[in-house]
Amino acid sequence: MESTESIILGAGLAGLSAGYHLQSRARVLERENRVGGLVKTINFNGYWFDHVLHLLHFQSFPIQDTILDLLGTDIHPIDPEAWVETREGTSRYPLQMNLKGQSLEAIEATIADLKLAIDRTPKLEPNNFEEMLEFSFGRYFCDLFMYPYNRKVWKRPLKDLAPSGFQWNIDHPDLEQVIEGSVAENTTFIPYNSNGWYPRPPADSPIRGMEVLAKTLGDKVDTVDLEHEVISLSLKDQTVVCNTPDGEQIYHYDQSLLSTIPLPTLIQITSDLPQQYRDMGKLLKANRVISVMISIKGPRPQGKGHWRYYGEESIVFTRLVYLHNFDPLLSPPDGWGLLVEITEPSEWPMQTEEAIYERVVADLEQVDAIPEDCTIVDQNMLVVSPAYVVFTNDSKVAVQALKDYYASHNVSLLGRYGQWEYSSMAQVMNDGFQWAMSQEKS
Ligand SMILES: Cc1cc2nc3c(=O)[nH]c(=O)nc-3n(C[C@H](O)[C@H](O)[C@H](O)COP(=O)(O)OP(=O)(O)OC[C@H]3O[C@@H](n4cnc5c(N)ncnc54)[C@H](O)[C@@H]3O)c2cc1C
Repeated sequence: MESTESIILGAGLAGLSAGYHLQSRARVLERENRVGGLVKTINFNGYWFDHVLHLLHFQSFPIQDTILDLLGTDIHPIDPEAWVETREGTSRYPLQMNLKGQSLEAIEATIADLKLAIDRTPKLEPNNFEEMLEFSFGRYFCDLFMYPYNRKVWKRPLKDLAPSGFQWNIDHPDLEQVIEGSVAENTTFIPYNSNGWYPRPPADSPIRGMEVLAKTLGDKVDTVDLEHEVISLSLKDQTVVCNTPDGEQIYHYDQSLLSTIPLPTLIQITSDLPQQYRDMGKLLKANRVISVMISIKGPRPQGKGHWRYYGEESIVFTRLVYLHNFDPLLSPPDGWGLLVEITEPSEWPMQTEEAIYERVVADLEQVDAIPEDCTIVDQNMLVVSPAYVVFTNDSKVAVQALKDYYASHNVSLLGRYGQWEYSSMAQVMNDGFQWAMSQEKS
């Protein structure tokens, strides 16, 4: 049995960031044969696809300089252009700040209902996500976009979701800005993901896409054991057991364990977790993302932006991502890649791949996404699960209780799925760095 000061479960961005700081004081154990977790990019015959839409944005996280320095000239600033399609028109994202493009009737009704919501006294405290949306945006805008879009993303009653905790990226409307954005391009509002970054390595780079970030970070980590699937954790003995190509291996941690693997998996593999905490795992639900990767031959469409949201529930996908606008070398010069995002509860039975492709192609036609002079030459699919953590009032309480219990046994939970949260790449990297710094001090 090998011993080390700290063990880190998972080599996604959260685990890699912690390992980068701790260097030889930590060993990272990863199930897959390459690092990155969700932040990987696949190449299908010259067409590169990120597993999901990935734009790096730092908001106010202090790690920006460290990450940009690491990536050097490979990273490129992106001013993202995103669009929203509703039954009433096409507008810039976020729709509430950019109503120009919607019908006059929709603009007037949105502003009237928003004013009612803002002026409402006494102020009401929302009990659930559906109420939070209505109290923030007014009824008309909810019916136009927020309800149908979120019903499509969650495919669960919006009344069952928590009123807060996972909506940091929903911009709350300010009446003046809404009015400004209804007549002209909104110049004063800055969305959370403006000033993004995306890798654009040289043409002969063996990897492209956002995986460049994961690979660059991974190369700086002292010990990452790939193809090490953690199958058991003993809190009492401070040991983990891994399945590896050479059989089972046992590792001991002297000081701390950091888990960035999905919390339901951790619960399952913890051999000495009391039943009451095991039961809490049943409250943790998630949605999966089916990423359909379409390789297209023909001229690259202009004016589509980086991605587009589709509010109508009759369209199966939530977003279309135009990858060539992130990096022109993500596809051959005479083609382009379209990433199609579909979300559904992870517990639903999967449809066949053929049924999904058929529906996607039909709906791409419906929204006029493939111009007449373009041809689909390949289609592939990847299922990411968990992708979106489902927040309910009960799950919030359960996650906190689990975090506290594990912490009392020198186990920290981190990362988007490790601590069952809705976080960005910058946030999980920042958390990884912070956790490692707290270990350095102890
Ligand atoms: C649809 C979608 C779109 C997104 N868009 C953006 C965006 O535009 N910008 C942004 O900043 N963020 C975005 N994100 C969020 C971002 O992808 C995540 O915050 C980040 O990748 C999470 O990293 P992580 O290390 O916490 O988790 P993960 O990447 O999931 O890493 C966990 C690791 O644990 C490993 N593992 C699991 N089980 C075991 C086991 N038993 N043994 C060993 N290893 C195991 C996994 O293989 C994986 O490598 C998006 C996420 C989704 C789902």
